[in-house]
Amino acid sequence: MSQILLHNTLTNALEPLVPVHPGEVRIYTCGPTVYASAHIGNFRTFMFQDVLRRFLRSQGYRVLQVMNVTDVDDRIIQSAAAAGIGIREYTDKYIQAFLEDIDALHIEMPEELVRATDHIEDMVALIEKLQQKGLTYTSDGSIYFRTAKFPAYGKLSKIDVAGIQAGARVDVDQYEKENARDFALWKAPKPGEHFWETRIGPGRPGWHIECSAMSMKYLGDTLDIHTGGVDLAFPHHENEIAQSEAATGKPFVRTWLHAEHLIIEGQKMSKSLGNFYTLRDLFAKGHKPSTIRFLLLSVPYRRQLNFTEDGLTQARNSTERLRNFVLRLKTAQFAAGSSEEIVKRIEKAENDFDAALADDINTAAALASVFDLVRDVNTAMDRGAFLQQDAPRAIAAMEKFDNVLAVLVDDDDEKLLKLGFGASKQRISSEQVEALIEERNAAKKRRDFKRSDEIRQKLTDSGILVEDTKDGSVRWKYK
Ligand SMILES: [Zn+2]
Repeated sequence: MSQILLHNTLTNALEPLVPVHPGEVRIYTCGPTVYASAHIGNFRTFMFQDVLRRFLRSQGYRVLQVMNVTDVDDRIIQSAAAAGIGIREYTDKYIQAFLEDIDALHIEMPEELVRATDHIEDMVALIEKLQQKGLTYTSDGSIYFRTAKFPAYGKLSKIDVAGIQAGARVDVDQYEKENARDFALWKAPKPGEHFWETRIGPGRPGWHIECSAMSMKYLGDTLDIHTGGVDLAFPHHENEIAQSEAATGKPFVRTWLHAEHLIIEGQKMSKSLGNFYTLRDLFAKGHKPSTIRFLLLSVPYRRQLNFTEDGLTQARNSTERLRNFVLRLKTAQFAAGSSEEIVKRIEKAENDFDAALADDINTAAALASVFDLVRDVNTAMDRGAFLQQDAPRAIAAMEKFDNVLAVLVDDDDEKLLKLGFGASKQRISSEQVEALIEERNAAKKRRDFKRSDEIRQKLTDSGILVEDTKDGSVRWKYK
């Protein structure tokens, strides 16, 4: 295994990766908060983590990655209450959509994908530990972490803690930057809100305790790597460190990796600017999963990624160039023999690719080594200098690169069809949908549930989401 250098936010330095357990890298990843569909900015971070884990595995490491799903927080509770359903039911459909999205992008499933609401007991136990150590206080039924009692507070985000006021506290899950406060570990229930009855009283966990409890449960007290978007460094990750290290007395994380923001055509992505995209918005505009994957991984994670139409066009062309190259290797006829020069050229590309990724996951440099090889081999083919016996060697190199890049297999149409998109699938018109829904209502009325189920299935297969509301009316939309 060659040495892998990673930029640790904690020390603000490039450091060699030295796993706690030799040969195995344990990674915790802050996953989605499932109150809406994940947006393309979220996928920038998830894509970085995917490249990281794929590269580690290609270097012979075992990877144990845990990703949480935040299925309880302020927004979820409010949204579920507004919809008149439980939070599990409310979040289920967003979890399902998230799984479909990562599958479309060839983002590997983490070894453990864990829901916060399945781990309330672990969070309660961790809060009790902090209580026993005198690091908490209770106010109006909520339990707060006494930030001033953790002297290392601020070490990750380098936030100025001189202004911490004892007792100044904050209740919401996400709060203003630059202001260190006591934060809620456990929140007393508000009337009508979802809550759990526990040993530390009725209520629900704060957002930060969720990640501390679940990461240490599956990965041990000290993790090798903790990843997330750069906006999570404070307060979320700072609070995770405080809770975890105060409870265990051990370092919580060896290496913190933070992915920079994604912007759209040079602007911050926001709903009000109309440039807020989910993955499915981009599929609906005709972009392929492999194009989006390529664009997201092409910019090194610590650089801001400007997501543009031009970038998408280039990404599509680049992906096609790679696929065409492999096709040429597999189908063209070359003169018999092998060339030492070509074999050396291929080996150099492989070494350059690994060296680039070992240098803090420099995907831009890694891609450059691949495209340089493609150019050189294409040139050799054009002038008859590429020989038949070297084709399998070149194909093997491309497949090795693709263990990390995952764009060579042309399954875009298949992935899109699964999600109800794609040219080969005719969208049914809204008139047709309305007619089918009317027919289904009629079938239900005469208690012909077989027929009504058939129609529902037909709508689902056509990419239509049908929702039966409480008042008996039916809502629908294109997936
Ligand atoms: Zn987290």
